Amino acid sequence: MKFGSLTGKVVAVGTAALMIFGHEVSAHGDEASVYEAIQDQLVGKQIFFGDLHNHTGYSPDGSGTPKMAYESAKMNGLDFIAITEHSEGLNLIANEEEGVNTPLPYRTEWEDIQYQADQISDESFTAIRGFEWSDPYQGHFNVWFSKHYTDVFRSPGTPSMKPFWNWFQTDTSLLGGSDGIGGFNHPGREPGKLDELAYVPEVDNRVISIEVFNREDIYDSTYVEALDNGWHVGAIGVSDHHGEIWGDPTFARTGIIATENSHEDVRAALEKHHVYATQDSNYQMVFTGNGQMMGAELTNEQPVELNVMGHDPDQGETIVKAELVTNGGKVVETYEPANPHQTFEWSTTTPETTESAWYFVRVTQTDGEMIYSSPIWVNR
Ligand SMILES: [Zn+2]
Ligand SMILES: [Zn+2]
Repeated sequence: MKFGSLTGKVVAVGTAALMIFGHEVSAHGDEASVYEAIQDQLVGKQIFFGDLHNHTGYSPDGSGTPKMAYESAKMNGLDFIAITEHSEGLNLIANEEEGVNTPLPYRTEWEDIQYQADQISDESFTAIRGFEWSDPYQGHFNVWFSKHYTDVFRSPGTPSMKPFWNWFQTDTSLLGGSDGIGGFNHPGREPGKLDELAYVPEVDNRVISIEVFNREDIYDSTYVEALDNGWHVGAIGVSDHHGEIWGDPTFARTGIIATENSHEDVRAALEKHHVYATQDSNYQMVFTGNGQMMGAELTNEQPVELNVMGHDPDQGETIVKAELVTNGGKVVETYEPANPHQTFEWSTTTPETTESAWYFVRVTQTDGEMIYSSPIWVNR
């Protein structure tokens, strides 16, 4: 969904709102001010939908090949996708034709995931290589964009995450992962919960996400826990797909707000947490604080004006409520539209507090599907 190349104040508010969300919005009163507060963040931007967690037969529990996965995701309308195999065994020779032909020149599976990504990526589709560090006790962690990978044999997770964090900070010339970014997967599904999500300041700027949706599961309380512990993570939704219908519209997705559909812009948007998790395949959401896009860290600004715009392009897809959630998972305020509409616009301010706080927006649709924004941090 393209926002269009709007130029700030030239476009009348009502008209621009209509252009942006592809739907007629009667912009007046509060609605007009919501749009005005947000519009600087939207110029030249688009929302892209992707899925950052997928497996193929290169994982022991997956099926098919990365080539099939990238093609399937593209066909299903995703703008970007990452293949994130369990990394034990990625040094095997790739056999991308299901055992019929051994490709020449030989490539390892790790190399083939990147090779196939390079083949299919273009200005409308970004294929990303990643891997899933998978520890049976601590749980799983995805790394994207790194030249090298590691696994639990080289970076064991028991008794602590330290060996993995060490690898994540080691230079690529020493086979480390300091060029990658990563995120917490289905946190808490395994008992160690990644060292109980203990904060590690040295890697905070490259641990950029947490899975709020993985398959059918919702990780609401661990999202809150990670933020309370100090992590600066954005909310993503993923399929963690192990079958052969990669990118299926019924799977959870991640929306990102970026300029171009490219590896650079997708990565930059993830690093800035201009990202949200959605169970709905095409839900559009923008959340700002004092005019800064979600993911922003504001300092000593009080109160902060928060603005939210949400839109579902599908007829009849309305919301029940939008909630503003803060430290400890406390709901600060709930917005319930009087006349439910495919579009909503909500403006509010942060409560009076002397504490540092984070705020995210949690939307519930009439059909029960949910959308989580990334946070805005207000530091004191
Ligand atoms: Zn996993
Ligand atoms: Zn997985």
